Amino acid sequence: MNIIGNYIKVSKEISNIPSSKKTELIVVSKNFTLEYLRPILDMGHIHFGENRVNEAISKWSNELKKNLNIQLHLVGKLQSNKIKNAIKFFSYIHSLDSKKLATLCDEQEKKSQKKLKYFIQVNIGSESQKSGVDINELDGLIDFCRAKTNLDIVGLMCIPPLSENPIQYFEKLKILGIKHSLKELSMGMSNDFKSAIQNGSTFVRIGSAILGNRIS
Ligand SMILES: *Cc1c(COP(=O)(O)O)cnc(C)c1O
Repeated sequence: MNIIGNYIKVSKEISNIPSSKKTELIVVSKNFTLEYLRPILDMGHIHFGENRVNEAISKWSNELKKNLNIQLHLVGKLQSNKIKNAIKFFSYIHSLDSKKLATLCDEQEKKSQKKLKYFIQVNIGSESQKSGVDINELDGLIDFCRAKTNLDIVGLMCIPPLSENPIQYFEKLKILGIKHSLKELSMGMSNDFKSAIQNGSTFVRIGSAILGNRIS
């Protein structure tokens, strides 16, 4: 697997897609070791995504001490018993989806004197098994975060239903972002980042297109 070749290819593809906004590449490094990722770190890449708090800590804690520029993104589900560590290690959380989690994150930010950036995850396909706030509860959650917490809500995140054309869902998230004056959109993965960027994505989360298939 030529991960540097893939990284350069994907980076070029991202910058060649017409878009009015700058798109940040998050390399989703879950299930891969730091040794495996090293070539990408050596190229100076700083945005990495993980989906489990414990895995992220054991993998990244030494590296974060050495390289202060690295920004870790929690892209997987946030469990309330992991919030303390999540606030400590991550710069971005992409999976805020309830008032309860917002309250706990707000309390923990105050205790640990840290400020993160948050995406509210929207259950954009209204799938029963998916994480994310229901579309009809999004207004209430955003109002709550703005009125009752000091959390820096920067944007919205979604994972479209697997078996469908994602474009309609990207368009929907974009409209919701505009409605709430949220600048950032976290959408687009290995298979659909091009159409996500065409619809205004500002953070794409890409794993396998750069790193190869995950062995989990
Ligand atoms: C694993 C994961 C990704 C990356 O998926 P690829 O298809 O490998 O690019 C992106 N977002 C989330 C939330 C993930 O869990």
